[in-house]
This record gives sequence, C-alpha cells and structure tokens, in this order.
Amino acid sequence: MGPDDPFKKEALFPGSLYARGKSEYVTGGKPDVPCILCAVRDGDPAVRSHVVHQDGVAFIILNLYPFNPGHLLISPTRHVERWRDLADGEVARIMGLVKQAEDVLEREFGCTSFNFGVNEGKFSGASIDHLHVQLIPRFRSELGFIDTVGRTRAMVFSLEQVLEKLKGKFA
Ligand SMILES: [Zn+2]
Repeated sequence: MGPDDPFKKEALFPGSLYARGKSEYVTGGKPDVPCILCAVRDGDPAVRSHVVHQDGVAFIILNLYPFNPGHLLISPTRHVERWRDLADGEVARIMGLVKQAEDVLEREFGCTSFNFGVNEGKFSGASIDHLHVQLIPRFRSELGFIDTVGRTRAMVFSLEQVLEKLKGKFA
C-alpha cells in the first residue's frame, strides 16, 4: 500500500498494536483449565498469575502479555461472562477498582492517560470468557527506537516489579 493508495484513509485499522510474547498463548501454550481467571482466583498452580488484589467481589491481576507496564485485568470473583449478568454491587465494585487503579497507577508510574474497556462475547476479540475490564495505562512516550525499528516492545518494568509496586495498594 503506497502513500497514494486511495483506500489508505479508509482503513479501519491504519496501524497495529503488537502484543509481543503472546504468540505462545495463542499457539497453544494456554493452560489446560476450564477457565483461566477462575483458576487464578482459586490459586491453581497450573496457571501463572500475578494477583494484585483480591476480595470477595472482584480481583485484579497483571496482564501477563501487557501492552504497557501496569496493564491490569479487573474481574468479578464470580464466573460471569456478560456485563449485564453482573449484580449492581459487582458493577459498582469493579468500577470502583478501576478508579482506584487509575490513582495507584498514576502514583506509581506517573501515567495520567488510560484506556479501559471490556471485550464481551465471541466476536469481540475476547480470548477469555470470564468477564474482565482491561485497564491500560498510556504514557507520553511509549515507542522508542527498539519498538518501531526492532519491532520489539521494550518493557521498562518486569511483571514482578509492577506487582511489587501495585500489591497491597487497594482498599
Ligand atoms: Zn471463570
């Protein structure tokens, strides 16, 4: 597609967001459990997890394949697949945790911009049925030389470092 391509401006996805390291997951490295998030919730040793917070209503984990450091999944404790099937109290708790998480991420990483949302249902792009809000911190300078030229995402914090910063910070 050259610069004069008449369809260029019409492209639905003019760019791509690469999830480096997710290839293992999408090519069969998925743990053999009925639900990854239920397994994480239950502390099943078959799944790798980094739990930031857990209470009776919801829990927060680090996305193992983060788009940015501090990329969180905020999920109901109960296995629920549809937003409309959540009880009002669960919605309130989950959205309250999103608010808290933004404060914590701003304090710990200095980020002031976020994307958050839910992929719900088979055609939405969801790879895990168990409902979860994705909260992605956004930074002023996300892409450096290695990201754009080397086609490799440079993560400046390891999952363990991020976990260390965020754990125990939620009320
Ligand atoms: Zn589940």
